[in-house]
Amino acid sequence: MNQDCVLISGSRYGLGLANGSGMDLLKIYKETRNGMLGADYSTKFSPWLASGSLSPRYIYEEVKRYEKKRLANDSTYRVLFELIWRDYFRFLSIKYGNSIFHLGGPRNVVSKWSQDKLLFESWKDGRTGYPLIDANMKELSTSGFMSNRGRQIVCSFLVRDMGLDWRMGAEWFETCLLDYDPASNYGNWTYGAGVGNDPREDRYFSIPKQAKTYDHEGEYVTYWLPELKSLPSERRNFPGQSYIKPIVPLKFDQTNHRNTHVRKSRR
Ligand SMILES: Cc1cc2nc3c(=O)[nH]c(=O)nc-3n(C[C@H](O)[C@H](O)[C@H](O)COP(=O)(O)OP(=O)(O)OC[C@H]3O[C@@H](n4cnc5c(N)ncnc54)[C@H](O)[C@@H]3O)c2cc1C
Repeated sequence: MNQDCVLISGSRYGLGLANGSGMDLLKIYKETRNGMLGADYSTKFSPWLASGSLSPRYIYEEVKRYEKKRLANDSTYRVLFELIWRDYFRFLSIKYGNSIFHLGGPRNVVSKWSQDKLLFESWKDGRTGYPLIDANMKELSTSGFMSNRGRQIVCSFLVRDMGLDWRMGAEWFETCLLDYDPASNYGNWTYGAGVGNDPREDRYFSIPKQAKTYDHEGEYVTYWLPELKSLPSERRNFPGQSYIKPIVPLKFDQTNHRNTHVRKSRR
């Protein structure tokens, strides 16, 4: 795996595939899209889309051409479905204007948020004591990229577990992301913070569950946190005293029955 090639992989994904060029990754996107490590788990179209050097219509036409010439399956459908999320947040920003940047978001939700500097710094620098959060935040500040899975997890952690003003997280993403796009970034943050145009206010990503599901062997966390390499794979996401002490307890951990009330994310 070479992180340097992560952002050129858009071309490996599908564009030109109908002609037989590139790698045939489009047909397995649905199975790989929740990955976090490497170049190929998702398309990496986003930086090119955000800078305006790639047109979503061109991607649409290429996927349709691929479907006609090669195959159409759940994966080819899913790439177009994800592009609709992008459209959705663009339309939302047109409809709701500047409110996507306001604390209460489009629905003007009133709730208490902290702006604790210490907590925020630990999140931003990847020193929270939770390897899955820390690895993702190190990836962001080092490479300017983070997977969609990672973005959802670190957003939930900042908002739900730390109780921090979601705009601090959104601003840090804005500072670092190569694919920064105001509508997608603030749209997703308002969505994750429960202040977006979405009735589901309590979306919560359980770190132990996410780690077990998406980084079972601890490969992702050890890539960004090599100090965990000496631990057995099952302990890399749960290192206990072998790692920094967690800066906050998890709001809903496995022993806390409140998590039965938490609705599962649909993404
Ligand atoms: C908190 C948070 C902040 C985000 N900030 C941004 C941002 O500033 N810029 C940005 O482009 N995306 C943002 N996203 C959406 C998504 O994480 C990235 O588009 C995706 O990870 C980029 O990688 P990819 O191109 O390989 O995506 P793929 O999984 O290959 O998806 C293909 C394309 O679909 C679009 N897409 C996929 N998921 C989303 C989504 N949830 N919202 C909007 N469009 C989507 C993107 O254009 C992406 O390039 C954010 C998501 C979250 C949870």
